[in-house]
Amino acid sequence: MATKSTHKKKIKEIRIDKKFCKACGICIEFCPTKVFDADEFGYPVVARLDACTGCKLCEDRCPDLAIEVIEEKKEEKEEKDGKG
Ligand code: SF4
Ligand code: SF4
Repeated sequence: MATKSTHKKKIKEIRIDKKFCKACGICIEFCPTKVFDADEFGYPVVARLDACTGCKLCEDRCPDLAIEVIEEKKEEKEEKDGKG
């Protein structure tokens, strides 16, 4: 049990809405823990969800609001997230 504590939030999912995403690559560049890879068209792909610290830089920096970091505890709220 000598592992370093990491203070990270439990992230359930990182949702990328491809309707809005324009593959600018900002989230890929800004993520401090390199959670994303780019696919062949430059769209972000969540490759290392485990590495996500929940800092939400990707959400903040995305110019098209195409990305949402979903924490475990948001789970219930998310279900109510219908069309708006
Ligand atoms: S919340 Fe932070 S660590 Fe997680 S994917 Fe976004 S930028 Fe990377
Ligand atoms: S920052 Fe937003 S628009 Fe740019 S690649 Fe990431 S999700 Fe897509």
